[in-house]
Amino acid sequence: MKVLITGAAGFIGSHLCDRFLSEGFFVIGMDNFLTGSPDNIAHLFGNKNFKFIEYDVTRYIYIPDEIDLILHFACPASPVDYLKHPIHTMKVDSLGTLHTLGLAKKKKARYVFASTSEVYGDPQVHPQPEDYWGNVNPVGVRSVYDEAKRFSEAMGMAYHREHGIDVRIARIFNTYGERMRLNDGRVIPNFICKALEDEDLTVYGDGSQTRSFCYISDLVEGIFRLSTAEGLDGQVFNLGNPDEVSVIDLAKKVIEKTGSSSGITFLPPMDDDPKRRCPDITKAKTVLGWYPKVSLDEGLENTIQYFKRKLNKK
Ligand code: UDP
Repeated sequence: MKVLITGAAGFIGSHLCDRFLSEGFFVIGMDNFLTGSPDNIAHLFGNKNFKFIEYDVTRYIYIPDEIDLILHFACPASPVDYLKHPIHTMKVDSLGTLHTLGLAKKKKARYVFASTSEVYGDPQVHPQPEDYWGNVNPVGVRSVYDEAKRFSEAMGMAYHREHGIDVRIARIFNTYGERMRLNDGRVIPNFICKALEDEDLTVYGDGSQTRSFCYISDLVEGIFRLSTAEGLDGQVFNLGNPDEVSVIDLAKKVIEKTGSSSGITFLPPMDDDPKRRCPDITKAKTVLGWYPKVSLDEGLENTIQYFKRKLNKK
């Protein structure tokens, strides 16, 4: 079985390459290194079951190989990154989605799309089930990400309905762990790096906003099950950890776990920052038999060790 993974050098994409290789797949990884890093896949070069193509998915994709499965995971995912690359972000999840769906049609491949909890925007329903339509500002700064992901979901469903492509959509909630960049900009790498440097942690707003953080190994298990189970075409799944925590409590936890002398600095809130976010994972539990197993404490400890190594700290 051959799988094409776009965004292969990214945080989640590189872990997916590892998982699919360990399950006996031939993996074709694609990335343009806009936000991904060669370091994340350096250990795979030389693996006879891995082929890497440096390429930008916003351009027409030609691949001669047969492909059984396509995972479209390319896209800047940190608000810092997509606010810096707003137009390219929109292209990756419009043109890039179109090209990878076209490839799925040509190769008669199954297609898994990396969507996001951001499709729910600043949700008015809590926790968020898959049948909630969301509350998105279509012209706000975050819309470049939210609306591109929503467009991709709609495009995926159109290919499913019109061409019978086996399209599956994963709505991924906040995920963290090894291989996030030091300057990723998302809250967990930011807090850990600041804490390890004994600098103040920056909380945007009053810190009462919540998120639910899923450790990378749990997410990869969920994506693998969603990609390999039979009979899920045209279906949408929330994948995330329903353990909800406020940003201020997360900051305190990181300071405690790193033994840091950092304080907390409050900065103005980010525009359109969702106030609460927590997945309803009843469907993933029931249909995929999946639920997260790694607690925030355990996942944070692993991630702190990773960033200590990156920063050469003991
Ligand atoms: N946040 C923060 N300080 C930081 C980075 C993020 O207070 O240094 C907040 C951010 O405003 C948001 C939450 O943490 O409310 C999660 O932000 P992140 O960038 O990780 O991802 P998001 O869930 O917003 O996509």
